[in-house]
Formats: sequence, C-alpha cells, structure tokens
Amino acid sequence: MAKIQMKTPLVEMDGDEMTRILWGMIKEHLILPYVDLKAEYYDLGLEHRNETDDQVTIDSANATKKYGVAVKCATITPNAARVEEYNLKKMWKSPNGTIRAILDGTVFRAPIIVKGIEPNVRTWKKPITIARHAYGDVYRDVEMKIPGPGKVELVYTAADGHEERVTVHDFDSAGVVQGLHNLIPSIESFADSCFTYALEKKQDLWFATKDTISKKYDHTFKDIFQEKYDEKYKPLFEAAGIEYFYTLIDDAVARVMKSEGGFIWACKNYDGDVMSDMLSSAFGSLAMMTSVLVSPNGYYEYEAAHGTVQRHYYKYLKGETTSTNSVATIFAWTGALRKRGELDQIPELSQFADRLEKATIDTIEKGEMTGDLARITSLKNPIVLNSEEFILAIKNTLDSEE
Ligand code: NAP
Ligand code: MG
Repeated sequence: MAKIQMKTPLVEMDGDEMTRILWGMIKEHLILPYVDLKAEYYDLGLEHRNETDDQVTIDSANATKKYGVAVKCATITPNAARVEEYNLKKMWKSPNGTIRAILDGTVFRAPIIVKGIEPNVRTWKKPITIARHAYGDVYRDVEMKIPGPGKVELVYTAADGHEERVTVHDFDSAGVVQGLHNLIPSIESFADSCFTYALEKKQDLWFATKDTISKKYDHTFKDIFQEKYDEKYKPLFEAAGIEYFYTLIDDAVARVMKSEGGFIWACKNYDGDVMSDMLSSAFGSLAMMTSVLVSPNGYYEYEAAHGTVQRHYYKYLKGETTSTNSVATIFAWTGALRKRGELDQIPELSQFADRLEKATIDTIEKGEMTGDLARITSLKNPIVLNSEEFILAIKNTLDSEE
C-alpha cells in the first residue's frame, strides 16, 4: 500500500532511557511503514542537551513555533545523581519547563479508557480531563537558602524607577525562601483555552485555587477566570448546557473523588502536575493518559505524561526482558499526526491516527497487554507481552483492521 504523504514536517523531539527505546520501536513498526514521515528531528536526549548547552531544547521549541506541531519523548530532568551519572556540565533545567516557557499555554491531560481496566474510584464513569497551566509559579521560581538571622524583602522596581517593597520574613534563624511569579497575559490565555476546550468538548469546567490563603496571587487567577466567564463565555456555556464552577482546591479534590467524572478540571501549574499523576494512576496507569500542550498562538506539543521509566531501562541495559507500556507515547504520535492532518487538510493522515489508536485499544481489549495493565485488568487470563511484542501486537491488529 502506498504510504501516506505529508506536507509540513512534524517537530520530533527524541528523549531518554526506556522511552527513547520505545520511540524507536514505535517509529519502526507503527509509523514508518504507513506514513512517509516528514519530521525535523531534535535530539533532546540528555547527552545531546549537555553537548549543546541545552540549546537544542530551545531550538526545538522555536521549531514548534515555526511548524505548529511537535511530538515529544519523555526526557530526564537532571538532579544531582544525573549530573554525576552523565558527567554533566550543569544541572540543566527541565526540558518541559523550558519548552512551556517558550510556547506558554495549557497542558490538557485525559485518561485513555479501555474495557477491562476499571478506575480505582468506583464512582468515576467518565474521563476527567486535567487542564494544567503551563507557565510560571514554582517551575519558574527563584530560591535562596538563608544562612542565618536577617531580613528578606520583595522589591519591585518599576520602569520609572519607583519602588515598592514588602517584608517576606524577619529571620531569627536559618531558613529558606522562594520567589514565584506569573503573568496576566499567560493567566488570561490559560482561562481562554480552558473555556474554549470545555465548549469544544461540551463538558463542565471546574477551576480551583487556594485564594482564601493566597489573597493576591491565587485570587488573581480566580478573578481572571470569573471576569472572562462573565464577559464572554457565560451565554456560550448556557447555550451548550454546561457549567463553570469555581471552588477551593481542597474542596475540589474532595468533590472529584465523589464525582462521576466527565468534566474538565483546570489546575494551576503545580496542582496540575500532581493531580494528573493521581488521576492517571487512579484511572489505571501513568501510561494510559494523553497529554498535549496547547499554546495561545495555536501551537501543539504532544507528549506522554509519564517519565523515562528509568528502572525498566536499567533492566533493558542488562539484557533483561522489559514490559513497558508504550500507549501514551503512541498516542503522542497519533495526536501529532492527527493535528498535522487537520492543519494541512490530509484526511488520510488523521484517519490513520484514529485507526492506530483504535488498534491500540483493541489489542488491550483482546487481552494482549504489558505487565502494568495485566496486574490490574479485570479481563481473565491476560497475555503479558514484552515491550516490543506489545508494539508488534498492535501492528498486527492494525494490519488486520485495514
Ligand atoms: P517514571 O519514568 O514515570 O516511572 C515511575 C514508575 O512508574 C516506573 O518505575 C514504573 O513502575 C511506572 N511506569 C511509568 N511509566 C510506565 C510505562 N510506560 N510502562 C510501565 N510502567 C511505567 O518516573 P521516574 O522513574 O520517577 O522518573 C524517571 C525520569 O523521568 C526522571 O529522570 C524524570 O526526570 C523523568 N521525567 C520526565 C517526564 C517527562 O519528560 N514528561 C515526566 C516525569 C519524569 P515500576 O517500576 O513499578 O514498573
Ligand atoms: Mg508529574
């Protein structure tokens, strides 16, 4: 069969460890035989980031601005142990943080639902989508260790030179401080993309912060969402029969656990990081979740929400069998190909993405899956496949469903 032709390249961001191995297998077995792949390749593997002084990460984000759609493999965010392991020049920043700072926007994460993998929370009947603000807060913070007694202040120097200051704390012992920031335009575009996404999906939108404690910072988020809703989205939501609902973050957590699902939960950056891991685990597995960064300028970056699966990689290096779930990484590829198909008006490309997703789900529902799913499935006698066998089983299903 003739391969599907592409017009515009995808930005391909390769990554690290076990997910880098899966990346190669997915391309070899599930993409390249069917698609005449046009991609601009950026190697975000830690060694290459180190060689390029992390310039490759910045270049890949700028390429995403140029072409509009990227697909990203999981990458190592270095810590002290990684600096030693890879003999790094510096403890490079999180690539996701760097890319999100350049593209801005909101990360939408939704569980991939399959029959036979029931959510741990019995009341959940429908997927819950997390909309995570992708800019600022603790991901763009500055921090200081305070060695001993002394005063810490926040100082704002306006462009015209006038100053405002507040005391953070008068220390009488050693301590720590953290300076966070966010930007009004970024919060506004976060709100717009959440309201727009809710309308697109015809689902209620929930938003929560800690505005009772954080009366300026978090309250600004709350106010911006409310103003946008009142000024623009209220009639659209009413016409669509959906609701916007604001509450405190702790109340939201309690309500989510008792809900039926089927809504979009907008979270500040850190809340979204933590809550999406909780949701994906409770829906089955970290590897059963899609993740896409949507920038206010209409750039899309598709990724898996989980990490590089380091423990499996070390087994792989020793020649041992691994059974690593590639579903989230496959869905990153299908998300990117589908979007490229939509933007370039190549319906065959979008249809191929649909078929590959269906083949992935059908393979699991037939009982062929990786170890993480086999441990929790309600299907009788699941067949546990290794990392490559699972990808080949999907290829088999895909070819049989042609
Ligand atoms: P992780 O890679 O998400 O893996 C944590 C554990 O979750 C694994 O050991 C495994 O459990 C299970 N798991 C995750 N993904 C799986 C999959 N696809 N298939 C089967 N099991 C899976 O998190 P980590 O080990 O804490 O972090 C490793 C590296 O990833 C770190 O260097 C971190 O910086 C990076 N990271 C990157 C991203 C990203 O690029 N988006 C996100 C998070 C972390 P078992 O070992 O019990 O099988
Ligand atoms: Mg996380």
